[in-house]
Amino acid sequence: MRLLIVEDEPKTANYLRKGLSENRFIVDVAVDGEEGILLAESYQYDLIILDVMLPKMNGWSILSLLRNKNIMAPVLFLTARDSIEDRVLGLELGADDYLVKPFAFSELLARIRAILRRGQVSQTELLIIADLQVDLLRHKAQRGKDRFELTPKEFALLSLLARRKGEVVSRTIIAEQVWDMNFDSNTNVVDVAVRRLRSKVDDPFDKKLIHTIRGVGYVMEDRDAI
Ligand code: CA
Repeated sequence: MRLLIVEDEPKTANYLRKGLSENRFIVDVAVDGEEGILLAESYQYDLIILDVMLPKMNGWSILSLLRNKNIMAPVLFLTARDSIEDRVLGLELGADDYLVKPFAFSELLARIRAILRRGQVSQTELLIIADLQVDLLRHKAQRGKDRFELTPKEFALLSLLARRKGEVVSRTIIAEQVWDMNFDSNTNVVDVAVRRLRSKVDDPFDKKLIHTIRGVGYVMEDRDAI
């Protein structure tokens, strides 16, 4: 397991490096965001530990930049600031956990192990089709850097199509799985919902991912990759 620590205080960084190495983690330390991002682009980390208060770029900016670069390693924040807003902001940005300084090393280790256990699940819960990413665990979807605002039904529809990438999904299946109802051929609720989803997921982009199979249903695929 390889971990990246971004921490500017040498004392804390050394303490973390030593403790985590003793627990058989491979540990890299960066002293600021620029170095951290460079390392995160070069190695596949299982977890990134981010100090919030850093020179030049704070931990939250680093997290946003990492996610924009599609670096999806789980992130644990270390923060000296314990206000609710800080935690909410961190978690909204996609942090997996946070720890308030000063903390006991045993607690850090327990949190890291918990995230790594979850992290293994969440990796398989990330569906990727061309530049589309559907994060089933966090209920988020984006193409490139553009994150979509989707209603729960739209997200359910998108994840159904993405899970069955390359398979034609009939209107009947969509109606059953997304609306939990039997398909009534007189309603065009599925088509309307697909049109709405397309307006967000496909229309703004050159590459279309949702394709209509006339009289049957829909298929999601990257046709350039076939
Ligand atoms: Ca600091």
